[in-house]
Amino acid sequence: MTVRTRFAPSPTGSLHVGGARTAIFNWLFARHAGGQFILRVEDTDRERSTEESILEITDAMEWLGLDWDEGPFRQSERLEIYQKHANLLLDSGHAYKCYVTPEELDEKRKEAQSRGDVLHYKREWAKLNEGPDVPYVIRLQTPDEGTIEVQDKLRGTVTFDATEVDDFIILKRDGFPTYNFAVVVDDATMNITHVIRGDDHLINTPRQVLIYKSLNYEVPTLAHVSMILGSDNKRLSKRHGATSVVAYKDRGYLPEAIINFLSRLGWSYGDQEIFSKEELIEKFTLDNVGKSAAVFNEEKLEWLNSHYIKNDPPEKIAELVIPLLKENGLEVELDEKLIKIIKELSQRAKTLLDIRDSINYFYASEIEFEEKAKNKFLKSEIKPVLQDIVDKLSNLSDFNMDEMHKVFDQVMEERELKLGKIAQPVRVALTGGTVSPGIFEVMDILGKDEVIARLNNAISVIPNE
Ligand code: GLU
Repeated sequence: MTVRTRFAPSPTGSLHVGGARTAIFNWLFARHAGGQFILRVEDTDRERSTEESILEITDAMEWLGLDWDEGPFRQSERLEIYQKHANLLLDSGHAYKCYVTPEELDEKRKEAQSRGDVLHYKREWAKLNEGPDVPYVIRLQTPDEGTIEVQDKLRGTVTFDATEVDDFIILKRDGFPTYNFAVVVDDATMNITHVIRGDDHLINTPRQVLIYKSLNYEVPTLAHVSMILGSDNKRLSKRHGATSVVAYKDRGYLPEAIINFLSRLGWSYGDQEIFSKEELIEKFTLDNVGKSAAVFNEEKLEWLNSHYIKNDPPEKIAELVIPLLKENGLEVELDEKLIKIIKELSQRAKTLLDIRDSINYFYASEIEFEEKAKNKFLKSEIKPVLQDIVDKLSNLSDFNMDEMHKVFDQVMEERELKLGKIAQPVRVALTGGTVSPGIFEVMDILGKDEVIARLNNAISVIPNE
């Protein structure tokens, strides 16, 4: 049996991290088994579904590298299939037409409420208004007593009381299916073997199981994964800040970091934290998916992101940073200089934006000094020291790190100064501020002429006593 999983988002907003985790689990499960991963857009809610949201979801999936083998299918284009299945159920006596109007139902609901009851739909009302042109819904005939058992791969047998499920609608007056009906017909006709989804859908499963049985379709393996919680142990929502995948992309996160992070929410493999995509595919099974809810730990995501920024090839990071710089009005080439810069800045960056925001001075034609840094470190007593460094660096025929170190050692020795006294003024002279990679690395990136020009410029702004 070929494993076939699916991701079935409702396009009523962008892809949020909970949905992405569901997509990742299904994708990993299919890839691990050499099976297929299907994308299905559940757009039967005509009022809330939008084209824009479909595009946002598929873009986010592509960005994450979650490729699908079939689809995107759209439920709104499959109405005939649902209608055909509803008719099959009418013919087999598992479903019936119900002519009770919404107003009549409302009336009955109010009556029940006034008695302190919850309305339970009664089958005998169904034929009340039967007539040739009278609109109707189709309802599933459900058991009046007993239990409905759902087998869940993660939770075992979950038992529901059949009296809590009344004869629910499968096809609405406008010919559109209800959510539970469309899901079952789709999963069955698309030969889905495993349904992995959030446990907020567990309450739908007794209804779905009844539909499978009535249609004589096999129930796929179901696995309901616990929801993701925010740091306050409440279900993750917009209240906890950015929850959409695209928001993380915009904040300079890498797709590998997100995939790695979300895979570990609910799934584990010993205490290993870092997984490449290939490793996840190799190791992911439902056996290691836990039952308890996982907490979304923003700091861990940040830590993973910095890990990937540091360890990915600098060429790759450079390619991602170039468009970010362009947005900020800085056009740079992917050349040796940029690669060297990325190698340095990626050591401490948590996001790509950290790199974007600390790169400017490498390309500046004129250094802008931070006022505080300038006042503290560019003082008259450092002027002769900087001049000395300029003279000695100018004499170097080979401007490499070793030679630069020698120059600084010599200046320190002759002037009886520690590197701590010299490094910060040099850094301010070269970068304008007090935070940067090591000064020798900065000098190596800038090259001799630029270093000497910047030091001379700093000397020129320092007052004489
Ligand atoms: N369309 C549903 C949702 O976005 C998913 C349904 C399912 O996975 O069965 O929550």
